[in-house]
Amino acid sequence: MSSLSSDWEAFRIEAESVADWIATYRSTLEQLPVLSRVEPGECADQIPPEPPDAAEPLASVLADLDDIIVPGLTHWNHPGFHAYFNTSSTPAGILGDFAAAAINAQAMLWRTSPAATELEIRMMEWLCHFVGLPDCFTGVIQDTASTSTFTALIAARERALPGVRTSGLVALGTAGRPTLYMSEHAHSSVDKCAIAAGLGLDGLCRIPVTADYGMDPEALERALARAATEGRLPVMVCATIGTTSMASIDPPARIADVCERFGVWLHVDAAYAGPAAALPEKRALFGGWERADSIVINPHKWMMTPMDCSALLFRDPDAFRRSLALTPEYLTSDTDAINLMDYGLALGRRFRALKLWFVFRRVGADGLRTALREHIALARTFAGWLEDDPAFEVVAPVHFGLVCFRSRPPVDARWDANEWNRRLMECVNIRGRVFLSHTVIDDRYVIRCSVGGIGATERGIRQTYEELAAAHRDLREGATEVPSI
Ligand code: PLP
Repeated sequence: MSSLSSDWEAFRIEAESVADWIATYRSTLEQLPVLSRVEPGECADQIPPEPPDAAEPLASVLADLDDIIVPGLTHWNHPGFHAYFNTSSTPAGILGDFAAAAINAQAMLWRTSPAATELEIRMMEWLCHFVGLPDCFTGVIQDTASTSTFTALIAARERALPGVRTSGLVALGTAGRPTLYMSEHAHSSVDKCAIAAGLGLDGLCRIPVTADYGMDPEALERALARAATEGRLPVMVCATIGTTSMASIDPPARIADVCERFGVWLHVDAAYAGPAAALPEKRALFGGWERADSIVINPHKWMMTPMDCSALLFRDPDAFRRSLALTPEYLTSDTDAINLMDYGLALGRRFRALKLWFVFRRVGADGLRTALREHIALARTFAGWLEDDPAFEVVAPVHFGLVCFRSRPPVDARWDANEWNRRLMECVNIRGRVFLSHTVIDDRYVIRCSVGGIGATERGIRQTYEELAAAHRDLREGATEVPSI
Protein backbone atom coordinates (compact mmCIF):
# COMPACT_ATOMS: atom_id res chain seq x y z
CA MET A 1 0.00 0.00 0.00
CA SER A 2 1.28 3.47 -0.77
CA SER A 3 0.91 5.52 2.39
CA LEU A 4 -0.87 8.17 0.31
CA SER A 5 -3.75 5.85 -0.44
CA SER A 6 -6.86 5.87 1.67
CA ASP A 7 -7.18 2.16 2.02
CA TRP A 8 -8.23 2.18 5.65
CA GLU A 9 -8.53 -1.59 5.79
CA ALA A 10 -4.84 -1.81 4.91
CA PHE A 11 -4.22 0.90 7.52
CA ARG A 12 -5.82 -1.28 10.19
CA ILE A 13 -3.33 -4.04 9.44
CA GLU A 14 -0.35 -1.68 9.30
CA ALA A 15 -1.42 0.06 12.50
CA GLU A 16 -1.45 -3.33 14.16
CA SER A 17 2.13 -3.94 12.99
CA VAL A 18 3.21 -0.59 14.40
CA ALA A 19 1.36 -1.25 17.67
CA ASP A 20 3.08 -4.61 17.75
CA TRP A 21 6.45 -2.96 17.15
CA ILE A 22 5.77 -0.45 19.96
CA ALA A 23 4.72 -3.16 22.44
CA THR A 24 7.82 -5.26 21.63
CA TYR A 25 10.13 -2.25 21.84
CA ARG A 26 8.74 -1.06 25.15
CA SER A 27 8.54 -4.50 26.75
CA THR A 28 12.11 -5.47 25.83
CA LEU A 29 13.74 -2.11 26.47
CA GLU A 30 15.57 -3.31 29.52
CA GLN A 31 17.77 -5.56 27.38
CA LEU A 32 19.13 -2.56 25.44
CA PRO A 33 21.86 -0.22 26.66
CA VAL A 34 20.04 2.80 28.00
CA LEU A 35 22.56 5.28 26.60
CA SER A 36 23.10 5.00 22.84
CA ARG A 37 26.54 3.77 21.86
CA VAL A 38 26.69 5.12 18.32
CA GLU A 39 29.38 7.52 17.23
CA PRO A 40 28.44 10.91 15.75
CA GLY A 41 27.38 10.45 12.09
CA GLU A 42 26.85 6.70 12.42
CA CYS A 43 23.07 6.88 12.01
CA ALA A 44 23.20 9.45 9.23
CA ASP A 45 25.69 7.29 7.32
CA GLN A 46 23.10 4.53 7.15
CA ILE A 47 20.35 6.77 5.82
CA PRO A 48 20.51 7.45 2.08
CA PRO A 49 21.02 11.11 1.15
CA GLU A 50 17.95 11.07 -1.12
CA PRO A 51 14.41 9.83 -0.45
CA PRO A 52 13.29 6.68 -2.32
CA ASP A 53 11.45 7.29 -5.59
CA ALA A 54 9.12 4.34 -5.10
CA ALA A 55 6.96 3.62 -2.08
CA GLU A 56 8.47 0.99 0.20
CA PRO A 57 6.64 -1.64 2.20
CA LEU A 58 6.08 -0.89 5.88
CA ALA A 59 8.04 -4.01 6.78
CA SER A 60 11.26 -2.56 5.37
CA VAL A 61 10.70 0.73 7.21
CA LEU A 62 10.18 -1.17 10.47
CA ALA A 63 13.27 -3.25 9.80
CA ASP A 64 15.33 -0.06 9.45
CA LEU A 65 13.68 1.30 12.57
CA ASP A 66 15.17 -1.69 14.40
CA ASP A 67 18.51 -1.71 12.61
CA ILE A 68 19.34 1.98 12.24
CA ILE A 69 17.20 4.00 14.58
CA VAL A 70 16.96 1.89 17.75
CA PRO A 71 20.76 1.56 18.19
CA GLY A 72 20.94 5.35 17.85
CA LEU A 73 18.39 5.96 20.60
CA THR A 74 19.00 6.81 24.19
CA HIS A 75 15.98 5.13 25.68
CA TRP A 76 14.09 7.63 27.79
CA ASN A 77 11.56 5.00 28.87
CA HIS A 78 14.24 2.51 29.92
CA PRO A 79 13.89 1.52 33.59
CA GLY A 80 17.55 2.50 34.05
CA PHE A 81 17.05 6.03 32.70
CA HIS A 82 17.69 8.35 35.64
CA ALA A 83 19.34 11.29 33.89
CA TYR A 84 18.12 14.90 33.58
CA PHE A 85 14.38 14.83 34.41
CA ASN A 86 12.53 11.87 33.00
CA THR A 87 9.93 12.20 30.34
CA SER A 88 7.25 9.61 30.63
CA SER A 89 4.97 8.17 28.03
CA THR A 90 2.24 5.79 29.07
CA PRO A 91 0.24 3.59 26.72
CA ALA A 92 -2.71 5.96 27.26
CA GLY A 93 -0.66 8.97 26.18
CA ILE A 94 0.78 7.16 23.17
CA LEU A 95 -2.70 6.24 21.99
CA GLY A 96 -3.93 9.79 22.51
CA ASP A 97 -1.10 11.12 20.37
CA PHE A 98 -1.79 8.48 17.74
CA ALA A 99 -5.41 9.61 17.53
CA ALA A 100 -4.31 13.27 17.44
CA ALA A 101 -2.11 12.56 14.41
CA ALA A 102 -5.06 10.94 12.67
CA ILE A 103 -7.43 13.80 13.45
CA ASN A 104 -4.67 16.25 12.53
CA ALA A 105 -6.60 19.24 13.85
CA GLN A 106 -5.06 22.66 13.53
CA ALA A 107 -6.57 24.52 16.44
CA MET A 108 -5.51 28.07 15.61
CA LEU A 109 -9.09 29.36 15.63
CA TRP A 110 -12.06 28.00 17.51
CA ARG A 111 -13.80 27.31 14.18
CA THR A 112 -10.82 25.38 12.81
CA SER A 113 -11.56 22.73 15.42
CA PRO A 114 -13.96 23.71 18.19
CA ALA A 115 -13.43 20.47 20.09
CA ALA A 116 -9.64 20.86 20.05
CA THR A 117 -9.92 24.39 21.46
CA GLU A 118 -12.50 23.50 24.07
CA LEU A 119 -10.78 20.29 25.16
CA GLU A 120 -7.50 22.19 25.56
CA ILE A 121 -9.12 24.77 27.81
CA ARG A 122 -10.92 22.07 29.79
CA MET A 123 -7.68 20.10 30.20
CA MET A 124 -5.98 23.18 31.60
CA GLU A 125 -8.85 23.48 34.08
CA TRP A 126 -8.50 19.80 34.98
CA LEU A 127 -4.79 20.30 35.49
CA CYS A 128 -5.39 23.36 37.70
CA HIS A 129 -7.85 21.39 39.83
CA PHE A 130 -5.46 18.44 39.96
CA VAL A 131 -2.62 20.56 41.34
CA GLY A 132 -4.89 22.66 43.55
CA LEU A 133 -4.76 25.98 41.70
CA PRO A 134 -7.82 28.21 42.10
CA ASP A 135 -10.51 28.63 39.45
CA CYS A 136 -9.17 32.02 38.40
CA PHE A 137 -6.43 30.18 36.49
CA THR A 138 -6.80 29.09 32.91
CA GLY A 139 -4.18 28.22 30.33
CA VAL A 140 -3.00 26.89 27.01
CA ILE A 141 -0.70 24.09 25.94
CA GLN A 142 2.68 24.91 24.44
CA ASP A 143 5.39 22.60 23.14
CA THR A 144 7.94 23.16 25.89
CA ALA A 145 8.53 25.06 29.11
CA SER A 146 10.94 27.25 27.15
CA THR A 147 8.07 28.43 24.95
CA SER A 148 5.70 28.75 27.91
CA THR A 149 8.13 30.96 29.83
CA PHE A 150 8.90 32.96 26.69
CA THR A 151 5.19 33.57 26.10
CA ALA A 152 4.74 34.67 29.72
CA LEU A 153 7.73 36.98 29.40
CA ILE A 154 6.25 38.64 26.32
CA ALA A 155 3.00 39.22 28.23
CA ALA A 156 4.93 40.55 31.24
CA ARG A 157 6.97 42.80 28.95
CA GLU A 158 3.80 44.33 27.52
CA ARG A 159 2.48 44.95 31.02
CA ALA A 160 5.71 46.61 32.15
CA LEU A 161 6.08 48.56 28.91
CA PRO A 162 2.63 49.16 27.45
CA GLY A 163 2.86 49.52 23.69
CA VAL A 164 6.18 47.71 23.33
CA ARG A 165 4.57 45.31 20.88
CA THR A 166 4.16 48.28 18.55
CA SER A 167 7.22 50.38 19.27
CA GLY A 168 9.68 47.58 20.00
CA LEU A 169 12.32 47.93 22.67
CA VAL A 170 14.27 50.48 20.62
CA ALA A 171 11.69 53.16 21.36
CA LEU A 172 12.00 52.77 25.13
CA GLY A 173 13.84 56.00 25.77
CA THR A 174 14.64 56.39 29.44
CA ALA A 175 12.38 53.72 30.88
CA GLY A 176 15.40 51.69 32.00
CA ARG A 177 16.80 48.36 30.96
CA PRO A 178 14.01 45.77 31.04
CA THR A 179 15.11 43.16 33.54
CA LEU A 180 14.13 39.64 34.53
CA TYR A 181 14.95 38.56 38.09
CA MET A 182 15.66 34.95 38.86
CA SER A 183 17.80 32.83 41.13
CA GLU A 184 21.20 31.66 40.06
CA HIS A 185 19.67 28.18 39.76
CA ALA A 186 16.92 29.05 37.29
CA HIS A 187 16.87 26.88 34.17
CA SER A 188 18.94 28.04 31.20
CA SER A 189 15.75 28.30 29.15
CA VAL A 190 14.97 31.46 31.13
CA ASP A 191 18.24 32.98 29.91
CA LYS A 192 17.24 32.07 26.36
CA CYS A 193 13.84 33.67 26.84
CA ALA A 194 15.59 36.90 27.84
CA ILE A 195 17.67 36.73 24.66
CA ALA A 196 14.63 36.09 22.47
CA ALA A 197 12.46 38.75 24.12
CA GLY A 198 15.08 41.44 23.56
CA LEU A 199 16.08 41.82 27.22
CA GLY A 200 19.44 40.27 26.47
CA LEU A 201 21.61 38.37 28.90
CA ASP A 202 22.52 41.71 30.49
CA GLY A 203 18.82 42.05 31.24
CA LEU A 204 19.04 39.19 33.72
CA CYS A 205 19.55 39.86 37.39
CA ARG A 206 20.55 36.72 39.28
CA ILE A 207 19.42 36.78 42.87
CA PRO A 208 21.55 34.88 45.38
CA VAL A 209 20.14 31.88 47.20
CA THR A 210 19.90 30.98 50.88
CA ALA A 211 21.47 27.91 52.45
CA ASP A 212 18.73 25.65 51.03
CA TYR A 213 19.44 26.93 47.49
CA GLY A 214 16.10 28.71 47.21
CA MET A 215 16.01 32.31 46.02
CA ASP A 216 16.60 34.73 48.89
CA PRO A 217 13.42 36.88 49.04
CA GLU A 218 15.24 39.60 50.97
CA ALA A 219 17.92 39.80 48.31
CA LEU A 220 15.16 39.98 45.70
CA GLU A 221 13.52 42.80 47.63
CA ARG A 222 16.80 44.71 47.79
CA ALA A 223 17.43 44.17 44.07
CA LEU A 224 13.99 45.47 43.13
CA ALA A 225 14.36 48.44 45.49
CA ARG A 226 17.56 49.55 43.77
CA ALA A 227 16.28 48.85 40.24
CA ALA A 228 15.61 52.48 39.41
CA THR A 229 19.00 53.70 40.62
CA GLU A 230 20.63 50.92 38.60
CA GLY A 231 18.70 51.98 35.51
CA ARG A 232 16.66 48.78 35.45
CA LEU A 233 12.98 48.29 34.75
CA PRO A 234 11.71 45.10 36.41
CA VAL A 235 9.65 43.08 33.94
CA MET A 236 9.37 39.68 35.56
CA VAL A 237 10.48 37.60 38.50
CA CYS A 238 10.87 33.93 37.67
CA ALA A 239 10.72 31.64 40.70
CA THR A 240 11.41 27.94 40.30
CA ILE A 241 9.77 25.16 42.27
CA GLY A 242 12.00 22.19 41.56
CA THR A 243 15.20 23.54 40.03
CA THR A 244 16.93 21.45 37.41
CA SER A 245 20.20 21.01 39.26
CA MET A 246 18.82 19.83 42.58
CA ALA A 247 15.03 20.38 42.72
CA SER A 248 15.43 23.23 45.20
CA ILE A 249 12.53 25.60 45.80
CA ASP A 250 12.37 29.37 45.55
CA PRO A 251 9.90 30.14 48.39
CA PRO A 252 6.75 31.09 46.44
CA ALA A 253 4.79 32.90 49.15
CA ARG A 254 7.63 35.17 50.21
CA ILE A 255 8.55 35.89 46.61
CA ALA A 256 4.89 36.63 45.81
CA ASP A 257 4.88 39.15 48.71
CA VAL A 258 7.84 40.96 47.19
CA CYS A 259 6.40 40.88 43.66
CA GLU A 260 3.09 42.28 44.87
CA ARG A 261 4.87 45.08 46.77
CA PHE A 262 6.76 46.10 43.64
CA GLY A 263 3.99 45.31 41.15
CA VAL A 264 6.19 42.90 39.19
CA TRP A 265 4.90 39.93 37.18
CA LEU A 266 5.61 36.64 38.96
CA HIS A 267 6.19 33.58 36.79
CA VAL A 268 6.62 30.20 38.50
CA ASP A 269 8.66 27.58 36.70
CA ALA A 270 7.28 24.30 38.01
CA ALA A 271 8.01 22.54 34.72
CA TYR A 272 9.32 19.48 36.53
CA ALA A 273 7.87 19.48 40.04
CA GLY A 274 4.42 20.99 39.34
CA PRO A 275 2.53 17.67 39.28
CA ALA A 276 3.67 16.97 42.86
CA ALA A 277 1.31 19.74 43.99
CA ALA A 278 -1.43 17.16 43.40
CA LEU A 279 -0.22 15.41 46.55
CA PRO A 280 -1.69 16.95 49.71
CA GLU A 281 1.50 16.08 51.61
CA LYS A 282 3.55 18.16 49.11
CA ARG A 283 1.16 21.08 48.73
CA ALA A 284 2.89 23.19 51.38
CA LEU A 285 6.01 23.37 49.18
CA PHE A 286 3.89 25.21 46.61
CA GLY A 287 2.12 27.53 49.08
CA GLY A 288 1.84 30.97 47.46
CA TRP A 289 2.27 29.87 43.83
CA GLU A 290 -1.43 30.54 43.36
CA ARG A 291 -0.54 34.25 43.62
CA ALA A 292 1.66 34.04 40.51
CA ASP A 293 0.66 35.70 37.25
CA SER A 294 1.78 32.66 35.28
CA ILE A 295 2.94 29.12 35.97
CA VAL A 296 4.46 26.47 33.75
CA ILE A 297 4.02 22.74 34.37
CA ASN A 298 5.20 20.12 31.87
CA PRO A 299 2.90 17.09 31.82
CA HIS A 300 5.48 15.59 29.47
CA LYS A 301 7.99 15.48 32.30
CA TRP A 302 6.29 13.94 35.31
CA MET A 303 2.70 13.36 34.30
CA MET A 304 2.87 10.28 32.07
CA THR A 305 2.19 12.27 28.89
CA PRO A 306 4.39 11.90 25.80
CA MET A 307 6.46 14.81 24.50
CA ASP A 308 5.43 17.49 23.86
CA CYS A 309 2.98 18.96 26.34
CA SER A 310 3.77 22.04 28.40
CA ALA A 311 0.95 23.76 30.28
CA LEU A 312 1.16 27.53 30.49
CA LEU A 313 -1.29 28.58 33.21
CA PHE A 314 -2.23 32.19 33.90
CA ARG A 315 -4.78 34.29 35.68
CA ASP A 316 -5.19 37.18 33.19
CA PRO A 317 -5.82 35.94 29.63
CA ASP A 318 -6.10 39.54 28.42
CA ALA A 319 -2.46 40.15 29.28
CA PHE A 320 -1.53 37.43 26.79
CA ARG A 321 -3.93 38.66 24.13
CA ARG A 322 -2.66 42.22 24.54
CA SER A 323 0.89 41.10 23.93
CA LEU A 324 0.53 38.68 21.03
CA ALA A 325 -2.96 38.62 19.48
CA LEU A 326 -2.88 39.63 15.84
CA THR A 327 -5.54 38.65 13.31
CA PRO A 328 -4.95 39.12 9.60
CA GLU A 329 -8.00 39.45 7.37
CA TYR A 330 -7.78 35.88 6.14
CA LEU A 331 -8.18 34.57 9.69
CA THR A 332 -11.07 36.75 10.81
CA SER A 333 -14.26 35.01 11.81
CA ASP A 334 -17.59 36.12 13.22
CA THR A 335 -17.75 33.49 15.92
CA ASP A 336 -17.57 34.87 19.42
CA ALA A 337 -15.23 32.27 20.92
CA ILE A 338 -11.67 31.84 22.15
CA ASN A 339 -9.07 31.53 19.42
CA LEU A 340 -6.00 29.86 20.87
CA MET A 341 -3.65 31.47 18.36
CA ASP A 342 -4.18 34.70 20.35
CA TYR A 343 -2.31 33.33 23.37
CA GLY A 344 1.10 32.63 21.97
CA LEU A 345 3.52 32.88 19.11
CA ALA A 346 2.47 29.80 17.17
CA LEU A 347 -0.37 30.09 14.71
CA GLY A 348 -0.60 26.40 13.91
CA ARG A 349 -1.40 24.43 17.04
CA ARG A 350 -1.54 20.68 17.14
CA PHE A 351 -4.07 18.75 19.19
CA ARG A 352 -1.90 18.17 22.26
CA ALA A 353 -4.84 18.21 24.65
CA LEU A 354 -5.99 14.84 23.36
CA LYS A 355 -3.13 12.85 24.83
CA LEU A 356 -3.51 14.63 28.17
CA TRP A 357 -7.24 13.77 28.13
CA PHE A 358 -6.40 10.12 27.42
CA VAL A 359 -3.91 10.12 30.30
CA PHE A 360 -6.29 11.77 32.79
CA ARG A 361 -9.09 9.40 31.84
CA ARG A 362 -7.18 6.15 31.48
CA VAL A 363 -4.81 6.65 34.42
CA GLY A 364 -7.09 8.78 36.56
CA ALA A 365 -6.09 11.41 39.10
CA ASP A 366 -5.63 8.66 41.71
CA GLY A 367 -3.39 6.68 39.36
CA LEU A 368 -1.27 9.76 38.71
CA ARG A 369 -0.97 10.49 42.43
CA THR A 370 0.01 6.88 43.09
CA ALA A 371 2.77 7.03 40.47
CA LEU A 372 4.10 10.32 41.87
CA ARG A 373 4.14 8.91 45.40
CA GLU A 374 5.91 5.77 44.24
CA HIS A 375 8.62 7.79 42.53
CA ILE A 376 9.15 9.96 45.58
CA ALA A 377 9.27 6.87 47.83
CA LEU A 378 11.78 5.18 45.49
CA ALA A 379 13.95 8.30 45.46
CA ARG A 380 13.88 8.32 49.28
CA THR A 381 14.78 4.62 49.43
CA PHE A 382 17.68 5.17 47.07
CA ALA A 383 18.86 8.19 49.07
CA GLY A 384 18.62 6.06 52.24
CA TRP A 385 20.96 3.40 50.78
CA LEU A 386 23.46 6.09 49.82
CA GLU A 387 23.28 7.67 53.26
CA ASP A 388 23.95 4.31 54.89
CA ASP A 389 27.00 3.74 52.68
CA PRO A 390 30.17 5.57 53.77
CA ALA A 391 31.26 5.70 50.12
CA PHE A 392 28.47 8.17 49.30
CA GLU A 393 26.82 11.33 50.58
CA VAL A 394 23.47 12.86 49.66
CA VAL A 395 23.96 16.58 49.09
CA ALA A 396 20.46 18.02 48.72
CA PRO A 397 17.06 17.37 50.30
CA VAL A 398 14.92 14.87 48.41
CA HIS A 399 11.72 16.89 47.99
CA PHE A 400 10.52 15.09 44.89
CA GLY A 401 11.99 12.29 42.74
CA LEU A 402 15.51 13.66 42.40
CA VAL A 403 18.49 12.48 44.44
CA CYS A 404 21.70 14.55 44.27
CA PHE A 405 24.74 12.81 45.66
CA ARG A 406 28.50 12.46 45.57
CA SER A 407 30.82 9.59 46.05
CA ARG A 408 33.58 9.99 48.63
CA PRO A 409 36.86 9.08 46.98
CA PRO A 410 39.17 6.76 48.92
CA VAL A 411 42.08 8.51 50.62
CA ASP A 412 44.55 7.13 48.08
CA ALA A 413 42.40 8.08 45.04
CA ARG A 414 44.29 9.21 41.97
CA TRP A 415 41.91 12.08 41.35
CA ASP A 416 40.36 14.90 43.28
CA ALA A 417 36.76 14.50 44.42
CA ASN A 418 35.26 16.21 41.36
CA GLU A 419 37.24 14.15 38.88
CA TRP A 420 36.52 11.02 40.92
CA ASN A 421 32.78 11.65 40.72
CA ARG A 422 32.90 12.43 37.03
CA ARG A 423 34.74 9.19 36.35
CA LEU A 424 32.42 7.23 38.59
CA MET A 425 29.37 8.49 36.72
CA GLU A 426 30.96 7.81 33.34
CA CYS A 427 31.82 4.27 34.50
CA VAL A 428 28.18 3.66 35.35
CA ASN A 429 26.94 5.17 32.11
CA ILE A 430 29.37 3.17 29.97
CA ARG A 431 28.18 -0.09 31.50
CA GLY A 432 24.81 0.54 29.82
CA ARG A 433 22.30 -0.51 32.45
CA VAL A 434 21.81 2.89 34.00
CA PHE A 435 22.07 6.45 32.74
CA LEU A 436 22.77 9.24 35.24
CA SER A 437 23.58 12.91 34.66
CA HIS A 438 25.36 15.52 36.71
CA THR A 439 25.39 19.11 37.83
CA VAL A 440 27.82 21.37 39.62
CA ILE A 441 26.77 22.87 42.94
CA ASP A 442 29.15 25.29 44.68
CA ASP A 443 32.00 24.11 42.45
CA ARG A 444 31.33 20.50 43.44
CA TYR A 445 30.58 17.89 40.80
CA VAL A 446 27.31 16.28 41.85
CA ILE A 447 25.64 13.19 40.38
CA ARG A 448 21.88 13.31 39.88
CA CYS A 449 19.51 10.35 39.89
CA SER A 450 16.03 11.25 38.69
CA VAL A 451 13.25 8.81 39.49
CA GLY A 452 10.28 9.73 37.32
CA GLY A 453 9.89 7.27 34.49
CA ILE A 454 6.99 4.87 34.33
CA GLY A 455 9.41 1.95 34.35
CA ALA A 456 10.90 2.91 37.73
CA THR A 457 10.83 0.04 40.23
CA GLU A 458 12.61 -0.82 43.45
CA ARG A 459 14.49 -3.55 41.58
CA GLY A 460 15.62 -0.90 39.06
CA ILE A 461 16.90 1.55 41.63
CA ARG A 462 18.54 -1.29 43.56
CA GLN A 463 20.38 -2.05 40.32
CA THR A 464 21.37 1.62 40.04
CA TYR A 465 22.81 1.52 43.53
CA GLU A 466 24.66 -1.74 42.77
CA GLU A 467 26.05 -0.27 39.54
CA LEU A 468 27.38 2.69 41.51
CA ALA A 469 28.91 0.44 44.13
CA ALA A 470 30.52 -1.70 41.40
CA ALA A 471 31.85 1.37 39.58
CA HIS A 472 33.23 2.67 42.87
CA ARG A 473 35.02 -0.65 43.38
CA ASP A 474 36.36 -0.77 39.81
CA LEU A 475 37.59 2.79 39.96
CA ARG A 476 39.29 2.21 43.30
CA GLU A 477 41.01 -0.86 41.95
CA GLY A 478 41.89 0.85 38.67
CA ALA A 479 39.90 -1.77 36.77
CA THR A 480 38.15 0.78 34.56
CA GLU A 481 39.79 3.59 32.72
CA VAL A 482 37.47 6.44 31.87
CA PRO A 483 38.91 8.94 29.42
CA SER A 484 39.00 12.50 30.68
CA ILE A 485 36.85 14.84 28.66
N1 PLP B 1 12.41 24.52 33.68
C1 PLP B 1 12.91 23.51 34.40
C2 PLP B 1 12.88 23.60 35.91
C3 PLP B 1 13.47 22.40 33.77
O1 PLP B 1 13.99 21.40 34.50
C4 PLP B 1 13.48 22.36 32.36
C5 PLP B 1 14.05 21.20 31.65
O2 PLP B 1 14.44 20.23 32.22
C6 PLP B 1 12.94 23.43 31.64
C7 PLP B 1 12.42 24.50 32.34
C8 PLP B 1 12.93 23.45 30.15
O3 PLP B 1 12.01 22.52 29.69
P1 PLP B 1 11.63 22.36 28.16
O4 PLP B 1 12.55 21.33 27.62
O5 PLP B 1 10.20 21.88 28.19
O6 PLP B 1 11.78 23.66 27.51
